[in-house]
Amino acid sequence: MKEVVVSGIRSTGKLHLGNYFGAVKNFLQLQEDFDSYFFIADYHSLTTHPNPTDLQGSGKRVLAEYIALGLDPEKCSIYFQSDVPETAELYLFLTMNAYLGELERVASFKEKARTQPNNINAGLLNYPILMAADILLHKGVKVPVGKDQAQHLEMARTFANRFNRLYNCNYFPEPQAFSFDGILIKVPGLSGAGKMSKSTGDADAIYLDDEATHLEKKIMRAVSDSGAMGMNTPKSQAVQNLFDLMALVCDPDVILQFDNDHKAGTIRYGDLKKQLAADMEIFIAPLRDKIQTILANEKHLNEIAKYGAEKARISAQKTLREVREIIGFRTN
Ligand code: AMP
Repeated sequence: MKEVVVSGIRSTGKLHLGNYFGAVKNFLQLQEDFDSYFFIADYHSLTTHPNPTDLQGSGKRVLAEYIALGLDPEKCSIYFQSDVPETAELYLFLTMNAYLGELERVASFKEKARTQPNNINAGLLNYPILMAADILLHKGVKVPVGKDQAQHLEMARTFANRFNRLYNCNYFPEPQAFSFDGILIKVPGLSGAGKMSKSTGDADAIYLDDEATHLEKKIMRAVSDSGAMGMNTPKSQAVQNLFDLMALVCDPDVILQFDNDHKAGTIRYGDLKKQLAADMEIFIAPLRDKIQTILANEKHLNEIAKYGAEKARISAQKTLREVREIIGFRTN
């Protein structure tokens, strides 16, 4: 039997470079050899209270982006989380064995509680439980995610093991964060601070459908260094971020040249950003065009979503049947 792979992306806006290199790039390889489930996390996105039009529009966009990037509905199951309501039932069961203290200690929850004090809803607190339900629903063992999800994966393992212990069974496997090169990646944003993210705004993120001029403008305005430069001055965080972004799309020889210029204290950040913008455009241009074409074909997207949900529900319903039996509910 093939190992099961599960992963998802929130439908809050468009996919950015971090989503691609942290998650989707691995999805593309995994769909070839594994039993793969890739979903659009629209239940998860409700923590930010989108209106119905935005919820639908952004979900459709993520689906179009999945297809444009190369996910194949015949090779994997591509579905909307909300089309597989078994997710919500498993989530309910898992909440009974998740404890307030451990949920409050999760870094992403603490960060959200700090940045959005007026909307610390229970969905945010329970975010890792819903994520565990997404994975355990298909008994997933490999979960292609970026570095930011490592702690959530650890919690998914905790919930799986706790369920097994409580019911004295060996039902759920332990899911592991996965990346082909063995390193979970963190793609930085353009602001010189933390990771690229959907919530830090347009100036910080590079979206997979950014128009050429807009893309160039954003990169030229990216934070670099204003401090004094000299021989062998260590790279500031902002400059390291630019080099990290270059590593994703530029030729290694070009990066080496800029690295040597930095060591020599002769680097011109304007030139570095121009190079990064040009190579980023080469990377993004074909994706942008494909996304637009696929997005225009609503009928095709609806068919893909329906087909994916049907496939995902076969596995989800089997799991829920078994879980209900283990817990002791009446089975039909
Ligand atoms: P999200 O956009 O938060 O729903 O994340 C969807 C997937 O993209 C998850 O696997 C994340 O780990 C990954 N991801 C999001 N942002 C980044 C980033 N800046 N670097 C690497 N991976 C990321």
